[in-house]
Amino acid sequence: MSVTNETLLSRRQAAVARGVNQAHPIFAARALNDRIWDIDGNEYIDFTSGIAVLNTGHLHPDVVEAVQRQLGHFVHTCFAVLPYESYVAVCERINALAPGDGLKKTALFSTGSEAVESAVKIARAHTRRSGVIAFTGAYHGRTLMALAMTGKVAPYASGMGLMPGHVYRALYPDALNNIDVDAALGSIERIFRNDAAPEDIAAIIFEPVQGEGGIQVAPPGFVAKLRALCDREGIVLIADEVQSGAGRTGTFFAVEQMGATPDLLVFGKSVAGGLPLAGVTGHASVMDTVGPGGLGGTYAGNPLACAAALAVLDVMEREHILARARQVGEITRTELLAMQQRYPSIADVRGLGALIGVELRTPDGQPAKDLTSKLVMSARDEGLLLLAGGTHGNVLRMLAPLTVELRTLEAGLRILDRCFSTLCRPEPGRHD
Ligand code: PMP
Repeated sequence: MSVTNETLLSRRQAAVARGVNQAHPIFAARALNDRIWDIDGNEYIDFTSGIAVLNTGHLHPDVVEAVQRQLGHFVHTCFAVLPYESYVAVCERINALAPGDGLKKTALFSTGSEAVESAVKIARAHTRRSGVIAFTGAYHGRTLMALAMTGKVAPYASGMGLMPGHVYRALYPDALNNIDVDAALGSIERIFRNDAAPEDIAAIIFEPVQGEGGIQVAPPGFVAKLRALCDREGIVLIADEVQSGAGRTGTFFAVEQMGATPDLLVFGKSVAGGLPLAGVTGHASVMDTVGPGGLGGTYAGNPLACAAALAVLDVMEREHILARARQVGEITRTELLAMQQRYPSIADVRGLGALIGVELRTPDGQPAKDLTSKLVMSARDEGLLLLAGGTHGNVLRMLAPLTVELRTLEAGLRILDRCFSTLCRPEPGRHD
């Protein structure tokens, strides 16, 4: 039997657990920079980057070469058993990139969830407290503690019972739903009054730009106010930049544009160009409160991933990826704002740099989840891969590699425009 999208889909359904989702019913055969080919030979423009992992594109030649070179030396020793230079070099590079004064230190992990949980462990050790405040719309991962902090029950926690305790939920600012900075800060003060005293809270964890939550950007003043509140109460402020980091927003960390510095920065995804690497960076005084053996893991900071990360960091400098993020963001935003004039279903176009979301609503102001799914499907049929997001599944996310060819970016946006014009034609009595 030949291997096709259709045959593989049925093999997948028989062999792979149902809980592992699949956004598109096609299977990858190969990819290059901003394009993917499926196993039926269809070509797609990639506006997903494997969920914001490929800021430097699929198979950047420098990343490929660095990994191949490392394969000629060794693949694994476990850094906790026999360390190697590339791990140390990645930490040095990230320490230098992290905003704020003073001596920084970094610990490496494999996944964002693992890094997020490690940041909480560091905050707990530092404060000798155990509570955490996370936000509505947050996404911090699927492992149990990360899931407890993730602000969306279905589908992530459906049927799994209650998540680990001592996580309290504050409101993330959301202009479209009338939650301003004061309301968000007020919701933290409410937690202090109703649920947990500040002296029991180890950390406040937030995304400077919520990714899975539908590209919600922290408004001006929010991070500075969080910073002041954490200083007042002795709470560790953790910025989860797993999705917003590694240059996507036009600065290496999004929080650099937000007027205040967190104690701990969590990074992952694009930092290693597709190899699994994540980490936590912060002041040495905070990072070093965990004793030897308290952080790490068998594969944490794997040599192939470290080699890839060093290549990615070089590419970011040499190819001016931060400026490129701003350019890609500007082009995308301009086109989307023009589409918003034509298609009333587009309720909002928002983002920072090249991390951009398009929120879709029905004429009566409800989240247009069906329309969003239809757009994702019809764009795929036209050769453009998109991802939906948002608490209500009604936000299209623009996540093209930052190395996207500008004509490919424009071609992708034209496909999206065509799909809008087909699906959003005014039809009497039918809007979504
Ligand atoms: N934090 C954020 C902000 C994320 O976007 C994600 C992944 N989407 C994670 C944490 C979890 O990362 P991983 O899937 O690598 O565990």
